Amino acid sequence: MKIIIIPGDGIGPETMAVVAQVLDAASTRFHLNLELEHEIAGHESLKKYGRTVTPALLEKVKAADGLMLGPMSTYDFKDESKGEINPSKFFRKELDLFANIRPARTYPNVPSCVNAFDLAVVRENTEGFYADRNIESGNSEMLITPDVAISLRRITRHCCERIAKAAFELAMTRKKHVTIVHKANVLKIGDGMFIDACHRIGAQYPEVKIDDFIVDAMMAHVVRAPERFDTIVTTNMFGDILSDLTAELSGSLGLGGSLNAGECYAMGQAAHGSAPDIANQDIANPFSLVVSAAMLLNWYGQKEGVLAFTQASKAIEHCMSELIAAGETTGDIGGKLGTKAVGAAFLKRFTTA
Ligand code: ATP
Repeated sequence: MKIIIIPGDGIGPETMAVVAQVLDAASTRFHLNLELEHEIAGHESLKKYGRTVTPALLEKVKAADGLMLGPMSTYDFKDESKGEINPSKFFRKELDLFANIRPARTYPNVPSCVNAFDLAVVRENTEGFYADRNIESGNSEMLITPDVAISLRRITRHCCERIAKAAFELAMTRKKHVTIVHKANVLKIGDGMFIDACHRIGAQYPEVKIDDFIVDAMMAHVVRAPERFDTIVTTNMFGDILSDLTAELSGSLGLGGSLNAGECYAMGQAAHGSAPDIANQDIANPFSLVVSAAMLLNWYGQKEGVLAFTQASKAIEHCMSELIAAGETTGDIGGKLGTKAVGAAFLKRFTTA
């Protein structure tokens, strides 16, 4: 398996350095024969090539089996004509990575203000309110007059159905419960179509229990009792917001891993951004990216039918849980270690397991 590694901006280089060590260790222990190729995107690429992402990089990524994308300073990238392309959007769109799977769970020994829970947000990744990706060319956000802006939201039955299928397939491997999150009381046509598509697909999974919540009420329910949810399927922006909440409820945004998956390609990526406020201080939690890397290995193992990848993925998550239980973590989840020291502690435990 060849994986392209892109460290990204802000805390990306520090946390991705840990991921590269973890992947190398997993490759050795489980004989995965992983090939890691290090590339650049974001600010570093903008400085060097005048573009945050280049066509040559896309070709390299396509030729590999998977991508680990570090967090990007998306807020800084405002003008595509100046090469400031949002790399996250770029890869999701170019590789059609329509399913953004964002698991969140509590861990013993991590302070959390809610009951123990284990859920996954399945977020549509290619349309919705994301003006930079939901039309063929240009941008679907317009300034009509200096004081009037319009942002268009695209919802298609095809995209609703394929994200619903991804959610029901995932639910079959979990607690067989799908919750549809929407705003169909106001967005009657678009979210009406989303709910309808989810139910149609759900009919093919009679074992899976289905319920639904309006997105604003969902925020209250997920804070009050996250343990009642298992697999949550929703449109792009609602999923983006909800999954930051569920990651933080689990103890820290620094635990929020994610996988962006398409039919034949996948990209691991932390659910959070580049967190420039804590960059270069050796305090960022690398676990969000470590979980994402484990998800990427698991995805590949299932696609190729190679058990060793699934085993490696489980072993990485297990080692992470052990470190958390032992308090060998960064400060955001109650530990006293720096990012590098967490990486070293991981390697020590993982290689002697
Ligand atoms: P961006 O503009 O790239 O989205 P941001 O700082 O606005 O960056 P996030 O990166 O999502 O948004 O982070 C929000 C806050 O969560 C950060 O200020 C940081 O304190 C915390 N945070 C995010 N990721 C981590 C992490 N891996 N470890 C520890 N804290 C984190």
